[in-house]
Amino acid sequence: MALSGLDIYKLLPKTNCRECGFVTCLAFAMQLAKKAVSVDKCPYLSQQAKQILETSSLPPIKLVTIGTGENRLEVGNENVLFRHEEKFYHPCGIGFIIDDDLPEEQIKQRLEKINSFRFERVGQNLQVNLVAIRQTGDKTQWLKALRLVSDNTSLSLVLMIKDLEGLNEALEITRDKKPLVYCATENNLTEFSKLVQDHNVVVGVCAKDLDTISEITKVLDAQGIKELVLDTGKKSISDKIWDLTQIRRQALKRSNRSLGYPSLVIVDRQDPYQEAIEAATYILKYAGIVLIGSAESWQILSLLTLRQNIYTDPQKPLQIEAKLYPVGQVSHESPVLVTTNFSLTYYTVLGEVEASKVPSYIVSVDTEGMSVLTAWAAEKFTPEKITESVTKFGLKDVVSHNRLIIPGYVAVMSGDLEDKSGWKVIVGPKEAAGIPAFLKNI
Ligand code: SF4
Repeated sequence: MALSGLDIYKLLPKTNCRECGFVTCLAFAMQLAKKAVSVDKCPYLSQQAKQILETSSLPPIKLVTIGTGENRLEVGNENVLFRHEEKFYHPCGIGFIIDDDLPEEQIKQRLEKINSFRFERVGQNLQVNLVAIRQTGDKTQWLKALRLVSDNTSLSLVLMIKDLEGLNEALEITRDKKPLVYCATENNLTEFSKLVQDHNVVVGVCAKDLDTISEITKVLDAQGIKELVLDTGKKSISDKIWDLTQIRRQALKRSNRSLGYPSLVIVDRQDPYQEAIEAATYILKYAGIVLIGSAESWQILSLLTLRQNIYTDPQKPLQIEAKLYPVGQVSHESPVLVTTNFSLTYYTVLGEVEASKVPSYIVSVDTEGMSVLTAWAAEKFTPEKITESVTKFGLKDVVSHNRLIIPGYVAVMSGDLEDKSGWKVIVGPKEAAGIPAFLKNI
């Protein structure tokens, strides 16, 4: 846990010698607490104080990177239990499991489907992150499936081993891919750590209880195997949520370094609806990685949307650049719709304008990312702001008419807006879903 300035001050020599560049030890301590200076600036720190200060400056949950290249997955390095306290930084990795006993053609089809899970939502590209190859039989079958998957995906890999027999060869196949190797247990720990020690991999640690997980992570850490993810195995949803919460709480509130790693959960149910609900629950609290047994498009679309929302800064709504957007083959007679620069609002309006097939302009007003009614209530979406935007974007040089369509929810401002802007105001539908019919009839 990060130390306060006063906690740090207690560890300093308190001689005010100024060699660190600060007038007093207290001033140095305050800068250290803000991470504005390095511990090394004070040459008189005791070894013990130095170690405490260096440890306290480490992130409470280690940042772990699985895979390489642009599709690598970074998880961990979170600072808070609750999103509203700050924000969640590294979105939970979502992956799918492929069993090695599937026929080759089915493995290829499933992999192709997983590779294609990419969606665009409110201007962001969303995609899955991992493919896990699960060993069900002997090593020959598993290595064959692993080779096939490894050669045909750029997603990060999870090697789900049943025994350690094929691990050496698997590490050769995935040599440059920095896979997650799942998993080290108290029963295989010695052999497992020997096998992975000199390889660039992330290690999954699995045990039913947190004490055993702690013991295993301490052993691995001491051996220099530092990038770990934690799994408490198959449990009920409530028990799993308890474990995930305890791991996060121990790391953040108790500075328990042996649990300061991202968590991993495997969701593998017969019923894909149950699976999606369970995966969603763990994305909310506090899985770093969720591996799923099925691979249905509707599952992944809803999970990626949920993840996007959870990992958005609650204090900074997603917003787009405030400007004039042409939609379709616009002309000087195209209608002009006015909305805010909140991404979700803009992309909803955009989708409906596209669906109408009526080429139009959208004026996106800078409302600091607020939606229509919120911005109106906060006086960010006012006749003055709309007038300013219309002038700034040179709308009168682009269209030959003088009509603005405003959202139905802010009909109340239409008179004032006409007076301020000099444009004729038409009140549009309240809901974006009404836009296609509205544009076709206008
Ligand atoms: S160098 Fe160390 S002892 Fe000297 S003022 Fe700075 S913090 Fe205090």
